[in-house]
Formats: sequence, structure tokens, C-alpha cells
Amino acid sequence: MFLKPTFFRGGIHPREKEITSDKKIEQMPEVGTYRVTTLQHIGVPATVMVKVGDQVKKYQKIGRAEVKFSAFIHSPCSGKVTHIKKIHIKGREAEEITIENDFLGEEFKRKKLQSFTPKKLQELVDDLGIVGLGGATFPTHIKLEGKLKTIIINGVECEPYLNADNRIMIENTNEILEGIKILMTTFEMEEGIIGIEENKAEAIEKMEEGVKEYQEIRVQKLPTIYPQGGEKQLIKALLKKEIKSFPRELEAITLNVGTILAIYRGVTHGTPIVERIVTVSGEGIRDPKNLSIPIGTPIENILDYVGLKEDTADKIIACGPMMGHEIGETDVTSKGMNGILALGKGKFPPKLPCIRCGRCVDVCPMGLLPLEYDRLAKKGKYHQMEKEFSLSSCIKCGSCEYICPSQVPLMEAIFLGLEKGRDSDD
Ligand code: SF4
Ligand code: SF4
Repeated sequence: MFLKPTFFRGGIHPREKEITSDKKIEQMPEVGTYRVTTLQHIGVPATVMVKVGDQVKKYQKIGRAEVKFSAFIHSPCSGKVTHIKKIHIKGREAEEITIENDFLGEEFKRKKLQSFTPKKLQELVDDLGIVGLGGATFPTHIKLEGKLKTIIINGVECEPYLNADNRIMIENTNEILEGIKILMTTFEMEEGIIGIEENKAEAIEKMEEGVKEYQEIRVQKLPTIYPQGGEKQLIKALLKKEIKSFPRELEAITLNVGTILAIYRGVTHGTPIVERIVTVSGEGIRDPKNLSIPIGTPIENILDYVGLKEDTADKIIACGPMMGHEIGETDVTSKGMNGILALGKGKFPPKLPCIRCGRCVDVCPMGLLPLEYDRLAKKGKYHQMEKEFSLSSCIKCGSCEYICPSQVPLMEAIFLGLEKGRDSDD
């Protein structure tokens, strides 16, 4: 029997994609106020480049990346800066810039790229604030250096509910393929592999049709199993090799389809990331949609637009239910936010003690013992989580908590261990 390539260990099979899989991308109407934060990426927050009272144009830089491990931030509208304040994002200090939209749509124009050298392309990607749009938000320019032989394009989108990548593969096929071509030509790469889970039949069909014009690019169907889109799992499935930390070990680069689209638009139109595709879905949403939403849009405006079923919705989650986090209506969208989900009350049954059934162990794609993290976190023995049970190998996929019949808060224990284990010797 022919077996499709996958990552061979653990994994789960969540559903709920169907709600928005056929919904075409729509434009979210402009709102009066955007609040843009300076930390929307992995790394150092950007430094504010504007002051209260400044008039800004759409696409204008408002946050500067002072170091390599950071990303520029740009204005999503033309208007006036009315407020700048300090905020905390996941325990880290950053700033939030409020811009009152003047609805004039005045754009900051930048010069087009004249020559395609690796250095020039890397500088452009840096300048446009492009980060990994699959949710990881790793600054993309850091990946674009050194010798690269293979580009792996991540079209897996294995989180339940989400269809942002699925829809752009269907609706922006040629732009994505041209983006891959630009990267491959500039960096003289030999092969491009687009990995797509087989639950996205229309996207696979469109991409397979499109790649006929590109000899060196191929589509690889993958089984529908979470977390197929994890970088290590994807490389294992497509290249049959394991990496210790980064794809660079294999002269490979992995980029999400949304990131490729952003690079293509950056090269051809000079547009930075001021907008992204977001799946707004869940049992608590009246009219679920895939929306193109400016960065910095308040969540309450989006929920007003799609309609929130107050009696059904329990929690609002940013990104997918597996790796996402709870947000409130006063939060705003960011570059990494590929989903906004209003999940129903039945999704959160009461938490019970661990019954040591071992299901979390069976599904862990990294071969870890998640139940031990809960046991040690309860005792405050965070250091032991790494020393005895290799916590740093966890890819934070959430499969263990998803499968747990007792709803043991394993992810909470994992994040506590990662945060506190560094500074404690128990
Ligand atoms: S799945 Fe839940 S109940 Fe079962 S061993 Fe793991 S933590 Fe315990
Ligand atoms: S979150 Fe970590 S421990 Fe849990 S299944 Fe994923 S890799 Fe394993």
C-alpha cells in the first residue's frame, strides 16, 4: 500500500474546517480608529517613529526595527496619531500607537526594487516588516541569507477552523507561484515543494494546475493530521530528514503561503504588511467569514461586523484553538493573528484530575510525556521539567491538551515551565 509522507509520531485529527472553507475572502470595511502595537513579531519590539499630532500616510513606517531580530511597523491608514502608550504583550513591554483614520487613503509611495540580488531582496523584506504569517511571526529577512537549496512552502494550515491560507491558495494561486519563483531565482534554489493537507482539495487542484508552468516547483499532498504544519514535522514529511533547530541545517527555508504572497506584493507593489487574511469563525459567530483585515483593527469592530452570538460564545480565541490564546473585545489584530474564533460553551468542559490514561503521550509528535509537566508544575518543580523530561523539545502544538479526557491544563503547565524553569533550580 502506498503511504503518503507524514511525520510518523503522534498527531491528532481535529475537524471544524468546513465552516469557512468555501467562503471567499472579503474586505473588512475601514474603521475610524486603528491601534497598532510595536511588538507583533518574535524578537525586540520596534521603536516608535512618530509622535502624537503627526499626520501619517497609509504604508508609512511608524515603528523602526533597531536590531536584526525585530520588524518594522507601518500605518494601516492615513490619518492622525492621537495617542501613544506603553502596553504589555505576553508579559513584555511594548507600545501602542493610536491612529484616527481620515478615510482619505493617502498612500506613502516607495521605489520599486530595481535589481534582484539576495541582499537587495533581504533588505526589502526587512524594510516592509514581513514576518511569518502562519502565526509564528519570525522576521522573514533573517531566513533570507546564506546558501539555500530548497524552499518548502507551508500550505498545511492544520489548525481547526482556520482557512486563511486555504483561501489564498485558491484565490491568489499565481501570485504565490510568482513569489516562489522570485525567491528561487534570486537565491538560485534548486527545488520548491508546496506541502498541502489533503482536506484542501480545491487548493491542491489550483496549485497543481499552476505549477505545470514551473518545472522546479511541485505540490505534495499530505495526510490531514495535526500538527503537520509544524516546521520540524513538515520537513520530516517532505524531505525525510530531521532537523535539530533550523531548516538552514539542510540548506532549506520554510515559508508560509501567506508570507510568500506578502513578499510577492512587496516586490511588485512595494506594499508592507498593513493587512492580513483572518478567518473569523466558531459556533459563536453569526456570519463566519474569511476577511482581509487591516493590522490594528479592534476586535470589537470585527465582531460587530460578523455578529457575535452572545448566548453561544464562551471564549474569544486569537489564532487557532490549538496554539492560540484567549483575547478580549478591546484587543486589536496583529500580523500573526490568522484567526479570531468565538468558541461555543460546549468546547470547554470542566477540568478534572489526570487519570494517567496516557493519551497525551500517544499524540505528542515530539515523543514527550506531557502528563509529567502537569505533575511537576503543580509542585513548582519547573527546573525538573527540562532536566528530566526535555521540556525545551516541546513545539507547543497543544495536541496533548486537546486529546486529554480530563481537560488537564497541560499548556498552562508547559508555558509556566518554559518561563519559570529558566530562573529556578527547584
Ligand atoms: S491525557 Fe490527560 S488524563 Fe490522560 S494521562 Fe495525559 S494528562 Fe492525564
Ligand atoms: S504541546 Fe508539547 S508536549 Fe504537548 S503534544 Fe505538543 S509537543 Fe507534545
